[in-house]
Amino acid sequence: MSHHIGEACGTPFQPKAPSSMGGGCINTAIRLSDGISHWFVKLNQASRLDMFEAEAEGLRELADAGAIRVPRPLCTGMADGQAYIVMEYIPLGGNSSGARAGEQLAALHRHQAEAFGWKRDNTIGSTRQPNHWTADWVDFWRRHRLGFQLEEAARNGLGHNIQRLGERLMESFPALMDHAPAPSLLHGDLWGGNLGHDDRGNPVIYDPATYYGDREAEIAMTELFGGFGKAFYDAYDAVWPLDSGYRTRRTFYNLYHILNHANMFGGGYVGQSGRMMEQLLAELG
Ligand code: ADP
Repeated sequence: MSHHIGEACGTPFQPKAPSSMGGGCINTAIRLSDGISHWFVKLNQASRLDMFEAEAEGLRELADAGAIRVPRPLCTGMADGQAYIVMEYIPLGGNSSGARAGEQLAALHRHQAEAFGWKRDNTIGSTRQPNHWTADWVDFWRRHRLGFQLEEAARNGLGHNIQRLGERLMESFPALMDHAPAPSLLHGDLWGGNLGHDDRGNPVIYDPATYYGDREAEIAMTELFGGFGKAFYDAYDAVWPLDSGYRTRRTFYNLYHILNHANMFGGGYVGQSGRMMEQLLAELG
C-alpha cells in the first residue's frame, strides 16, 4: 500500500506505524503518515474492492464540483488480501453553526446532470445501490430505490407484511409522487455521521453514495437521524428554498433508508418500515 501511495503521489512514501481511527460503520479505518503527508485509509475484505472504487469515483465527482470540501481520493487497491481506499486525511472536529454546510450543500445541488442516476452502481451502507441513468425521476425512484430495496427485503425474508405493503405502495406510487425535480448532484448518504468540520470550521462531507437525484431526498435524509439544526436549514433555504410538497415526500424518501437499514440490520427497522408504508398509504386515502 505504501508503494502504491508513493507511486500515486510521485514521491516515495515510508510511513511510520499506522494509527487506528477505530471502525466506521462498515470499514476499518487507519491513518498513515510519514510526518509530511497524511492519509486516511479504509480497509475491508477483498470482495469489497469494487465498493471502494465506486467510493473513490464518488468522492472525486463531489470534490470536482468545488461546492463543499470532500477528501480527495488518492488510490484504491489490494494489500495482504484486503481491499483498501486511500484518501486525503482531514483533521475533523472544528466548530460550526451548520450555516456554511447548508449554504454549500445547496451550491452542490446546483450541479446537475441530464438524467437521474450515475455512471456506475455504488453502495449504500453495505447494500448495492443501482444507478442506471433514467430520464424520469419517479420511474428511477420506483425501480432503483424503493423497488430494489423491496426485492432485497423479499430475498432477506423480512416478512409478508413488508411484501404486502410494498406491493400496494408500488401500485400507488405515481399518485403519491407527482413530482418532476431536476437531477442534482447528491452525496446520497448524508446523515450526521458523514458530515464534519475541518480545523477552520469548513464543512467536510465523506463516505458518499453519490448519484444525481432529487435534492429533497438528500434533505430528507439529513432529518432522519436527528437533524442538522436550524442554522443549516435556514441557510439552505436562503440559497434555494424547498418546494411546499417536500413535507409529504420526506417520508417517501426516508423509507428507502429505513428499508435499507431493515435489510442490513433487521430488528426494529422492519417494524418502522411497515409503519412508514402504512402512513404513506393512509395519506393516499
Ligand atoms: P465507514 O465507511 O466505515 O462508515 P467513514 O468513511 O464514515 O467510515 O469514516 C469513519 C470516520 O472517520 C468518520 O466518521 C470520520 O470521523 C472519520 N473520517 C472519514 N473520512 C476522513 C478523512 N478523509 N480524514 C479524516 N477523518 C475521516
